[in-house]
Amino acid sequence: MNTKVWKVDKYVDKLESNPHIVDAAQFLRENEVVALPTETVYGLGGNAESDAAVAKIFAAKGRPGDNPLIIHIADKSQLDRFVTEVPAKAEALIAAFWPGPLTIIFKMKPGVLSEKATAGLDTVAVRMPDHPVALALFKQSGLPIAAPSANSSGKPSPTTAAHVMDDLNGKIAAVLDGGATGVGVESTVVDCTEEVPVILRPGGVSREQLEAAIGEVLVDPGLTNVKEATRPKAPGMKYRHYAPNAPLYLVSGTRGFLQSLVAEKQREGLRVGVLTTEEYQDEFTADVVLACGSRAQLETVAAALYDTLRKFNQMEVEIIFSEIFPTSGVGLAIMNRLQKAAGNKVITE
Ligand code: AMP
Ligand code: MG
Repeated sequence: MNTKVWKVDKYVDKLESNPHIVDAAQFLRENEVVALPTETVYGLGGNAESDAAVAKIFAAKGRPGDNPLIIHIADKSQLDRFVTEVPAKAEALIAAFWPGPLTIIFKMKPGVLSEKATAGLDTVAVRMPDHPVALALFKQSGLPIAAPSANSSGKPSPTTAAHVMDDLNGKIAAVLDGGATGVGVESTVVDCTEEVPVILRPGGVSREQLEAAIGEVLVDPGLTNVKEATRPKAPGMKYRHYAPNAPLYLVSGTRGFLQSLVAEKQREGLRVGVLTTEEYQDEFTADVVLACGSRAQLETVAAALYDTLRKFNQMEVEIIFSEIFPTSGVGLAIMNRLQKAAGNKVITE
């Protein structure tokens, strides 16, 4: 398949200025799959009511079939079609954070969405992204759109159309290139089928922000505890994810300690990478030192994270050591992604 790359203006939702949105919506109606920019990462969209379209999403990504997809909508009225009820706390979250990087789990009306999209569960994850191109595309298609991140399963999520092409060129109908995404980590997934909502995946909206809107919010213990007995409740969170090619180690300790690990591996003849921040990049001597945003503003670390992980692949390092980050605000999502990318390998001083 010849994957079309269509430039779109991310500040403009007018179809006259962005005619390729109409072409991409036509692909969606024909049950083809199309990559699209959102405010978090690039998504790979397909008709959520079609088994054929959803099968193409799983095939292009090589995604395990037991990992359900997030259903994307452009208008709140679309919820009625496939959600049984919108609890009061979910209403409050929608009012506060949609459109935006928050995915809400609802109880689902059976028989509307493809069972492949929801992996046979009786709940459904829904989000309305805050991106004019994504919203215009969804509106134009008239469909609920199933859309996971547009990367090969296991790789860092794509934050540019070039990342999408690196992974999926030839496997999907088209990419709408709307430039780099903003938030850089995926949406927060919050389960609102329970009396007290539970964060199943930390993301672009922080726990603190959720609690300011609706009071107490729990964090799924399976996210921080790797033991089998507490498997994460979001099926996708059990997989290794976001991983660069070289083994990645998170380092808990001083910068001097991290530098000593680098020196040790260089003595063994390895090409060593360090993931650090603008503040400290001059303090390390490794083969490749990459500054991933500024520690003083964790939002910039989130925005740069996946691109930085992918750069280590291009620079062909053989081992990577990374700083760790505070878990307040978006730091919880950053550390969750880094821990998964590292397969939970942490070296403590
Ligand atoms: P991705 O599509 O890669 O952004 O990942 C979506 C995340 O949401 C994965 O971790 C899924 O397992 C999770 N998810 C989707 N639907 C549900 C659901 N109904 N219940 C729990 N987790 C879900
Ligand atoms: Mg993903």
